[in-house]
Amino acid sequence: MAHILVVEDDPALARGVAALLRSAGHAVDAVTQGMAALQLVEREPCNLFIVDIGLPDISGFEVIRRLRSRGDRTPILVLTAHERVSELVQGLDLGADDYLVKPFDASELTARVRALLRRNHGDPNPVLNIGALTLDRARGTAEVAGRPLQLRPREWAVLACLGARAGEVVARKVLLSEVFSFDDEVAPNALEVHIARVRRQLEPDGPAIKTIRGLGYLLDRA
Ligand code: CA
Repeated sequence: MAHILVVEDDPALARGVAALLRSAGHAVDAVTQGMAALQLVEREPCNLFIVDIGLPDISGFEVIRRLRSRGDRTPILVLTAHERVSELVQGLDLGADDYLVKPFDASELTARVRALLRRNHGDPNPVLNIGALTLDRARGTAEVAGRPLQLRPREWAVLACLGARAGEVVARKVLLSEVFSFDDEVAPNALEVHIARVRRQLEPDGPAIKTIRGLGYLLDRA
């Protein structure tokens, strides 16, 4: 779904963060040094950077400064140790978008990542048109041929996730990670129930949600 680069020199924390983000459907690269991160992103652009401030070579601040001075506007989430919180304003001034103080909860990390990716997705064009469907991601509203849809929050999340990737198969686990938070108790067929409700709302004029057996779901572009 998104390609995330983790720059963190604590191996246990880096592994934990990477595993968590992978389980949410993201592709994750992890490096332990600032220079390695800067080299990697020159070859392979990312959708989000997660940058520790205390790194063994150049500091996380220097990583952020160099990324921004290259014109790289990828969202940056800063990780910082408790004793360095007073320096955070420096990271934000340099162009970081958000921060987490260690230790943090897994659910807090995934929520911040979702918010940063959504912000990035939603900018610059919050309105998507897919056939007769109009999705306004800034307002959180959906219409089919001018008829407003009555969507509950999770139904909206299903439709926004499929709409952002219209014409592509979206894996079931990606939908699950976008629709449910880390702490939710999710019944085995909960996603299917939401999909069925969204399908009924889209009928008869809106685009179809196709089930791609064994893979996931696809919102038809036509
Ligand atoms: Ca560190």
